[in-house]
Amino acid sequence: MARCSVCGRRAVYVNRAAGVAFCERHFLEYFDRKVRRTIRRYRLFRPREHIVVAVSGGKDSMALLHYLRGLARRVPGWRVTALLVDEGIRGYREYTVKRLVEYAEEHGVDYHIARFKDYIGYTLDEIVRRGRERGLPYLPCTYCGVFRRYIMNKAARELGGTVVATAHNLDDVVQTYLMNIIGNDWEKVVRLGPVSGPASHPKFVRKVKPFYEVLEKETALYAVINGLYTGFEECPYARLSIRWSVRRMINELEERSPGVKYSLLRSLETAIKLLRSQGAGEAERLYTCALCGEPSAHPVCRACQLRLQLGIMEV
Ligand code: SF4
Ligand code: ZN
Repeated sequence: MARCSVCGRRAVYVNRAAGVAFCERHFLEYFDRKVRRTIRRYRLFRPREHIVVAVSGGKDSMALLHYLRGLARRVPGWRVTALLVDEGIRGYREYTVKRLVEYAEEHGVDYHIARFKDYIGYTLDEIVRRGRERGLPYLPCTYCGVFRRYIMNKAARELGGTVVATAHNLDDVVQTYLMNIIGNDWEKVVRLGPVSGPASHPKFVRKVKPFYEVLEKETALYAVINGLYTGFEECPYARLSIRWSVRRMINELEERSPGVKYSLLRSLETAIKLLRSQGAGEAERLYTCALCGEPSAHPVCRACQLRLQLGIMEV
């Protein structure tokens, strides 16, 4: 049985790569130290913020909401609102929506639900069906990711948010890093840091990742200890995604050789530095989408491009 490296009590958490183990109390202290260090090191928040927490209702985002709500109570200039984008995925999303609503009402947290149906006119299920009928080459997660980011920015702005905090953890970040390498998409790699930018646009709400240096198993344990991990639903589209395979591959590597995830994060940081030293990302400017007026990396945003291909937007 592993023992806590600090007090010798029974450990609930073992980190083989770092050679430490913690009991419940010392795990929570370690978790808090780690997240605070990220917040400080990358200056994620300002003294006055309306933090919109992007919540899916899953364990990671519920953990982030719980953590930031606790932190915001001690910072007078901060306000927290939870924002859930409901894609309309039957047999999945309704459960996670329920979890957020119950949590928010129990803890007195402001929340808002933005639906695909209201912003795009269709649910994700309808969009996926339509894409298949039209023979479009995209996986469900492609539509979901593009439209969710689009709605998240717009809804956060409508709520008066000054920053959006997302629950991406170290595992998510290194998975995306590998996916971008596979796609030879280095412009996206430059933007993988814990703060979005340097792009700016009057309609663009800054995005930050407080769990950037936290492992997925750590957010899961934090959620369990805080009574937030009440079920495990899986999106029916998840197994179709490239991320699913990349995630399994990295987890297998980590199992065989502990520390692979940290190495990948360091590799990402080196890549970002090298790319920036060559001027990548600097000239990045956001356009105003010619069709919808939202901020975009292209003259016509990805959401409008997809809507046109799906035949659900008229020009
Ligand atoms: Fe959306 Fe894909 Fe995540 Fe499902 S697994 S919620 S389709 S991004
Ligand atoms: Zn657009």
